[in-house]
Amino acid sequence: MNWRRNIQVLDLEPDERFELVCRKCKKMRWLSAQELLDRADAKYLYLEDVERRARCRQRGCGGTMRMAQTTEGETTPFVGGLA
Ligand SMILES: [Zn+2]
Repeated sequence: MNWRRNIQVLDLEPDERFELVCRKCKKMRWLSAQELLDRADAKYLYLEDVERRARCRQRGCGGTMRMAQTTEGETTPFVGGLA
């Protein structure tokens, strides 16, 4: 099951957020649904496309990111693999 392909930004709750981990330098950052909903060009994207377009913000890196779904209030950044 590929949740990234089935969920559109518009379907998200504004308080949902995702982890984006750089495939190159492993730097992690948070991406909130609100952040995406505020962008007119991102609203209609599927999460798969959001992931594909995301780039690492570390200076000089620019690597592609892996997106992970998280639950609000979760303290452990990496839990048991993929759902
Ligand atoms: Zn990076």
